[in-house]
Amino acid sequence: MKEDFLHYIWKYKLFNTSNLVTSNGEVIKLINFGLHNTDAGPDFFNGKIEVGETIWAGNIELHVNSSDWIKHKHQIDKAYDNVVLHVVYNNDQQILDKEGNVIPTLELKDLIEDSLIKKHNKLIHQSGSGIACGRQIKTIDTFTINTWLNRLAIERLERKSAEIQSTLKLNKNNWEETFYEYLFKYFGLKVNALPFELLAQNTALKIIEKHHTIFSIEALLYGQAGYLENNLEDEYYTILKKEYHFLKTKFDLTPLDKSVWKMLRLRPSNFPTIRISQLANLLSNQTRLFAKIIEAETAKELQTLFNIKASDYWDTHYQFGEVVENDTSKKIGIATVNTIIINVIVPFTFVYGKAKQNEQLVEKALKLLESLKTENNVIIRNWADLGVKSSNAMESQSLIELKNNYCSQKKCLICSIGNKILQS
Ligand code: SF4
Repeated sequence: MKEDFLHYIWKYKLFNTSNLVTSNGEVIKLINFGLHNTDAGPDFFNGKIEVGETIWAGNIELHVNSSDWIKHKHQIDKAYDNVVLHVVYNNDQQILDKEGNVIPTLELKDLIEDSLIKKHNKLIHQSGSGIACGRQIKTIDTFTINTWLNRLAIERLERKSAEIQSTLKLNKNNWEETFYEYLFKYFGLKVNALPFELLAQNTALKIIEKHHTIFSIEALLYGQAGYLENNLEDEYYTILKKEYHFLKTKFDLTPLDKSVWKMLRLRPSNFPTIRISQLANLLSNQTRLFAKIIEAETAKELQTLFNIKASDYWDTHYQFGEVVENDTSKKIGIATVNTIIINVIVPFTFVYGKAKQNEQLVEKALKLLESLKTENNVIIRNWADLGVKSSNAMESQSLIELKNNYCSQKKCLICSIGNKILQS
């Protein structure tokens, strides 16, 4: 057994999931297997399990042997403090958390069928892209593919709408606050989406709205992000820290732990420090941002609204206290702006239009997608290699939906392409 294969088995739930018990003999129910994380940190984020009568939400870590936890030094790494389940092929050692409690452990060794392992291994090796029908898809007619992709575009927007609606409910129907949380999440890109979301939740928009200078908003956000807890010999850092400590007392704020931020494999221009400053600039320039976004008619208008840069300090820094020689303004790139339009503005316009029974807004959401260029990511490139090319963001979103919610979940039987292959 190799660890990446164990990840695969977990990700696709290819083991007997009924009547599970932990290594301690407690009944365990797997409510959410979590999101696969291919960067540093726990293997699966945002899992949910029920052990005994208690529901736990948090990260899930996988190892071939449970003793790998110690070998990989997770016991001294804060990033693993929120692990709620340790999934192992072989439970060779009991693992304790920092409080001395046994981390719930699920051993898979006797739950995996040999035949299933072989069958699924073969399927995976059919195509390097993880698309099981990779060899047959060229035989499928364009009409079938296009009709299916059109349906998937709406399906994706409706799924995102449901997520927005549930956040909206938590935020007592406050559209501005809900939009603000989503905006933060997507400013963090994939790597720092969760920390940015936590930062937004930890810094209510109504507090931000009391401040109109980039400096005050930076002080609030860097402070709340946990960046202003050190002692640095840096003038800007020192005055931000002073301002934050005043605001912290005034609004009774609690900062996040700085360890939530991830830097691994990030380009410097995407460092959280730079992104936070860009957000501060955006928020200092705009009041009622959501209302303005809903009023914008075209992608170009939205791109202008997001034509922002980090504050001047960041022209010569990527991190606090570390001067870099090249002096460049850190503008938010057009690719990032388009990502925000596709993943935040379009779904919000769609769901807001539905909520207000405004068909023009729903149509505008779709037109915005059609007006943007196709996305360029590994999923879209893999489809193109198989001969399925997308010409705009509507099609690329459909292909992402197809890959993530059908191909990757082995839902070939409810996929139009799968049906066509099976019935031809
Ligand atoms: S879900 Fe559809 S497109 Fe994806 S692998 Fe299965 S048949 Fe192919």
